Amino acid sequence: MNAVYNFSAGPAMLPQEVLSKAKKELKNWNQLGLSVMEISHRSEEFIQIALEAEKDLRDLLNIPESYKILFCQGGARGQFSAVPMNLSNNIKSADYINSGYWSQCAEKEAKKYCSVKSINIKKKNNNNISLLPCSEWNISKLSEYIHYCPNETMHGIAIHEEPVFNKKIIIGDFSSVILSRCINITNYDLIYAGAQKNIGPAGMTIIIIKEKLLHHSNVITPSILNYKILSTYNSMYNTPPTFSWYLSGLVFKWLKKQGGIKKIEQKNEIKSNLLYKTIDHSNFYTNNIDKNNRSKMNIVFNLIDEKLNDLFLRKAHEHGLFFLKGHSLVGGMRASIYNAMPILGVKNLVKFMLYFEKKYG
Ligand SMILES: *Cc1c(COP(=O)(O)O)cnc(C)c1O
Repeated sequence: MNAVYNFSAGPAMLPQEVLSKAKKELKNWNQLGLSVMEISHRSEEFIQIALEAEKDLRDLLNIPESYKILFCQGGARGQFSAVPMNLSNNIKSADYINSGYWSQCAEKEAKKYCSVKSINIKKKNNNNISLLPCSEWNISKLSEYIHYCPNETMHGIAIHEEPVFNKKIIIGDFSSVILSRCINITNYDLIYAGAQKNIGPAGMTIIIIKEKLLHHSNVITPSILNYKILSTYNSMYNTPPTFSWYLSGLVFKWLKKQGGIKKIEQKNEIKSNLLYKTIDHSNFYTNNIDKNNRSKMNIVFNLIDEKLNDLFLRKAHEHGLFFLKGHSLVGGMRASIYNAMPILGVKNLVKFMLYFEKKYG
């Protein structure tokens, strides 16, 4: 079988090397005669896996000891409720930056628990879509925290700047961008991400939170979403998704072996440039997002002749290029190229796009 490249937005491609390792030790982890999936999360063996994963993640993102890392369940959507329940005291409101679908979902959920000020930063100029720079965000003086989404997975639009507002708590939904580029974690008070895009298999959510914020929670917060409780129990208040945790740990080791986030960021830059260059140089494909706000993880594009969409997808599939269909709410195409996507996969896609344009354009 020829190589298949998986451009799915999530659950997404995992590094081949990691899958091979997991396969090799699936039934017999560390000469234990058992699978990782079969051992207690409280066993010495699993605790070793858990601690190592945490340490590797700390190293990769340079996370200081003043931050806790929580490994929990419920996905990013779970955090849409957990954030306001843990952090708002209902006196002030929270600022929600609206940059697209996911940030709107977060905002909608938060409204159940606190008062929300929605700040729209989307701009449309002729056919050019952009986002306001942080300096133009209309932040309220008294807001309790600011929530934003640096990478809108569905629209392929991104905020590359790190928002810094004096004395404000900054919270980011990093689901589709975590570990893809260097960030200064101390610019944030809390970031969270579902694992299934750029970390590991679905089932786990990672929260990186300033320890100072752990005592804020609202009394109604369910214990399994309560940051303080999760932290006190070292993310083992209930049974954690052990296999996802283990596999994510393998991904962290793989990332370190690749040279860390700086190297990964360079590779991601090369990959996204290849695709955007192809789109911009053609009269057959388009992307109308401002160059400053183009996602480097989810590259969306349209065929000028939308009637060719189905044929494009079918032919791409025949060439081993899978799941390029854009989200149903957006249409068009989307190539998700997270860390695990090799440069070769992107080159194959570019080659196919040029071939398709030549043949049907
Ligand atoms: C996928 C995604 C979500 C939803 O994640 P779940 O784990 O399915 O809850 C939320 N935010 C962003 C930015 C996403 O990409």
